Amino acid sequence: MRSDEEGIGLSPADEGTKTLSRRRWLQLTAGSSVGLALGSVVDVTEVRAATRDVKLANVTEHTTSCNFCSCGCGMIASVREGKLIAIEGDYDHVVNRGSLCAKGLSMFPTHASPLRNKVPRYRAPGSDHWEELSWDEAIDKIAKKLRKTRDESWIASEEVGGRTVPVHRTDAIAFMGGAQNTTEECYLFQKAMRLLGVVYVEHQARL
Ligand code: SF4
Repeated sequence: MRSDEEGIGLSPADEGTKTLSRRRWLQLTAGSSVGLALGSVVDVTEVRAATRDVKLANVTEHTTSCNFCSCGCGMIASVREGKLIAIEGDYDHVVNRGSLCAKGLSMFPTHASPLRNKVPRYRAPGSDHWEELSWDEAIDKIAKKLRKTRDESWIASEEVGGRTVPVHRTDAIAFMGGAQNTTEECYLFQKAMRLLGVVYVEHQARL
């Protein structure tokens, strides 16, 4: 059997023998036959449009930003019935124009992972395991530690040029902000840290 007589191209394997097996012939023709049969009984364009409508039914879209690095790429989060179902790059965002790097693309799997940490966890000094805390317990623990560290490291005054000047600070605490914090959040962070006497206030993007 010659391929040009049949109007069917042979694969390199078929070329070797210049024959076309019954199985191979069925493989080559099955796809196009199904497509022709479907095309004659349904409007494929209509079906595609309907499928897309079903896919988008009851979905609301929210703009957000990637929290993995300081670039601040824009994302669109799709939510159905209060549940996040997809995240994609925001084509209208000035930073990334819809593109995302590998980390950004892994945002949704990270969100959906059963291993995702959803509650505060604490590992005591010397312990070999983590224990779960309630949010109130975690906040209480952090507040006590903050207070203790601040009190123990407080610097009320310093000698500057032969004069004693008040400085009112601690050098034992630092604060780290992130690219995803809003301007309002950053304002509040600054206020809180300055009130505590913290001078080392940094931003993730400068690391
Ligand atoms: S998508 Fe990538 S480059 Fe953009 S913010 Fe996320 S981690 Fe950074």
